[in-house]
Amino acid sequence: MSVVRPRGTTDVLPPRSERWHLREERFREVCRLFGYPEILLPLFEHAELFQRTVGETSDIVVKELYAFSDRSGRLLALRPEGTAPAARAYLENGLHQGPQPVKLAYIGPMFRYERPQSGRYRQHTQMGIELFGAPEPGADVEVISLAVEYLRRESIADLTIRLNSIGCPACRPAYRDALRAFIDPILPELCEDCRARHGRNPLRVLDCKVERCRQALGGAPRTQDGLCDQCREHFGAVRRQLGVLKLPLEIDPSLVRGLDYYTRTVFEVVHHEAGSQHALCGGGRYDGLVEILGGPPTPGVGFGMGLERVLDLAERLEEGTPSSYRPELFLAVAGEEVRDRALTLAAGARCAGVATTIDFGTRSLKAQLKNASRLGAAFSLVLGQREIEAGMGCLRDMGDGSEYPVALDRLVETVRHLAGRKD
Ligand SMILES: [Zn+2]
Ligand SMILES: [Zn+2]
Repeated sequence: MSVVRPRGTTDVLPPRSERWHLREERFREVCRLFGYPEILLPLFEHAELFQRTVGETSDIVVKELYAFSDRSGRLLALRPEGTAPAARAYLENGLHQGPQPVKLAYIGPMFRYERPQSGRYRQHTQMGIELFGAPEPGADVEVISLAVEYLRRESIADLTIRLNSIGCPACRPAYRDALRAFIDPILPELCEDCRARHGRNPLRVLDCKVERCRQALGGAPRTQDGLCDQCREHFGAVRRQLGVLKLPLEIDPSLVRGLDYYTRTVFEVVHHEAGSQHALCGGGRYDGLVEILGGPPTPGVGFGMGLERVLDLAERLEEGTPSSYRPELFLAVAGEEVRDRALTLAAGARCAGVATTIDFGTRSLKAQLKNASRLGAAFSLVLGQREIEAGMGCLRDMGDGSEYPVALDRLVETVRHLAGRKD
């Protein structure tokens, strides 16, 4: 048996890899417009970082953390998400001591040891931003509108922002007690996961996807009703400002997000397709996070977006985008005695910025030219003894078959000129 890729991983082949990079470039461009430079973070961290922040009670830590001991016996974990590492870096590098707010973006793989039957990958990629040091509702609004602006640039329409507030340490305990009191008598009706979650954190029960749980929880007290004055004011301002931007908003009391560090605003951006809802992006405010890591009280808000999910959607919307790896020039080599000259011509063309492919082998000219059209080359040039001696060749437009005489020492200029004329 040969070696295959580990379960839950995937190979991204061209041309999907090109479309992948296009997504990254677009995301970086939107981050630039909003003023979020990129931070590059390690792929693994001390497991404790996630145990302390993401929460001992969350599914990510309980079931899905990709943790392992290294050769020195340190307990490490492949990062399951980007917010806790970004907060760690913010604190560890003293960014909290400089001018605030601090805006950061990231793109990279995340790891979760998911059950394979769930159809999800153990390595997936997230594009995200974090905004530290801004307690104002406008910060939440900026973060959400960046996500929406990016998705609009991907021509992904039909978006809805699902929004909720889950309160703060001042008001959440009372709400949690009220929720627990509601759930206790109906606990036997709920699914196994909910019964386990209920003891650790009853808020988690609210976002259960099992139908019978959803029905049983229909009359549960809503997070919004338990908010303190400050939280209610904040939530109202976020909603109002999102309204000013005319962003499509839906208040969803069942939205709690599965991570312990969230405070106040939580949101998802979902796309409606074939009747179902796909969350492309999720995030929220995490005002207690930096403090949990030993730093000063620091407000924060951010989101993570699944690149693969965006790519899947975008690929359905834009088919047949031509590859940017198409050669502009294909050099067909007629005979080994001219190979050296062909090599220097190809090197010179690439040096001048013309994407050039040269045939390596001793295939027939016909086979070489067939390869040129399979690759989608714009122009081909056959190079034989006769062409070398004359210093002239015949440049063939692979699109319409027209041919142009070309001096070999003017090859690059001629390709440029002809290509420019076509644009
Ligand atoms: Zn509150
Ligand atoms: Zn349930």
